[in-house]
Amino acid sequence: MQIRSHNDRVDLKSDEYLLETLEPRPVIAREISGKMRRQILAPNGYTCQVCGAGPNEDSGCEPGRKCRLQIDHVVPISQGGTDDEKNLRAVCVYYNKDKANLKVPTSRDAISAMALIRRQPRHVQQEVYKFLAGKFGPKPGSK
Ligand SMILES: [Zn+2]
Repeated sequence: MQIRSHNDRVDLKSDEYLLETLEPRPVIAREISGKMRRQILAPNGYTCQVCGAGPNEDSGCEPGRKCRLQIDHVVPISQGGTDDEKNLRAVCVYYNKDKANLKVPTSRDAISAMALIRRQPRHVQQEVYKFLAGKFGPKPGSK
């Protein structure tokens, strides 16, 4: 059995454990180390690589929920994917490959730009926001 802890999933607190499936896992399935997790998360500014949300921001993967991040295999282990860094990315825990139907299109360029902005202090983010709001103006219906 594979029991997840906060070392495996960002959405778990340090005293929480999760049995994801009753299927026994092959013993060779390796855990993703904390160091690896940081290598995956940090360059992207701790954002979901699908919708661009950061922890506790509104998730684009599951509208109405707050984003919680997990490490996802781009190619699932069951389909021959590996724990190699290139096959790992951060996504909302709600993200479901099978029913991915996102209203938030995010190019890689936009994701890396947002990641940069998210790492800035709040006042810098507000400056960027003001700049963009001034440039593009408020959209009808938004406030
Ligand atoms: Zn997401």
